[in-house]
Amino acid sequence: MGILDFVFPKSCFGCGREGRYLCLNCIAKCFPAKPICPYCKHHSIDGVTHINCRKKLGIDGLTSVWEYEGVIRKAILSLKYKYATEIGNEISDYLINSLRAKILPSVQYLTPIPIYWYRQNTRGFNQSLEIGKRVADSMNLRFIPDLLIKNKSTVSQVELSGEKRKKNLQGSFSLYPHNSSFTTPNSVFLFDDVFTTGSTMMEAAKVLKRAGVEKVWGLTIAR
Ligand SMILES: [Zn+2]
Ligand SMILES: [Zn+2]
Repeated sequence: MGILDFVFPKSCFGCGREGRYLCLNCIAKCFPAKPICPYCKHHSIDGVTHINCRKKLGIDGLTSVWEYEGVIRKAILSLKYKYATEIGNEISDYLINSLRAKILPSVQYLTPIPIYWYRQNTRGFNQSLEIGKRVADSMNLRFIPDLLIKNKSTVSQVELSGEKRKKNLQGSFSLYPHNSSFTTPNSVFLFDDVFTTGSTMMEAAKVLKRAGVEKVWGLTIAR
């Protein structure tokens, strides 16, 4: 227990009970995200992209753990603000537990999508990176913090819709200029907090596929 716990005791985002930001009771009430094809958003076993929906430089599937609502939504939104580290740790633990029960594709690497957090976290701390690292470690995936970099400051995606979102994102990512000893991984989980339209993830996947990554899956906390 740190000094902050005495000044501001942790209480659950859902029920207000003291002790944690996400109590077991409230997390158990969160709905698991149904597996869908990331393109047409219809049901798909284990989240595999339908054969007919596949794109040449697209993502091969999507794993999301919870529906984006309730306490999970509150917790994710809070990651940008105060006490982000502890909230992030609690989310990571629940996330890892849930992922252990899922059928996951054979993917060797995990990298976070470099967007959103850098700009918006008031502490300048990339919480998605921290959660991604914990998830990777526990799932025996190799973690690459900087496979992709963000090129330009995009207008907040929230304010845009459909085609405008896509346009706004075009060219926004590129491969980090690793030195020549760096081998481009074969299979990658692109990690993000929330999957909404998927436009961000698809833009990031395009860059990875162009660079020679054969398999790209999306992995998000919520959808
Ligand atoms: Zn609770
Ligand atoms: Zn589909």
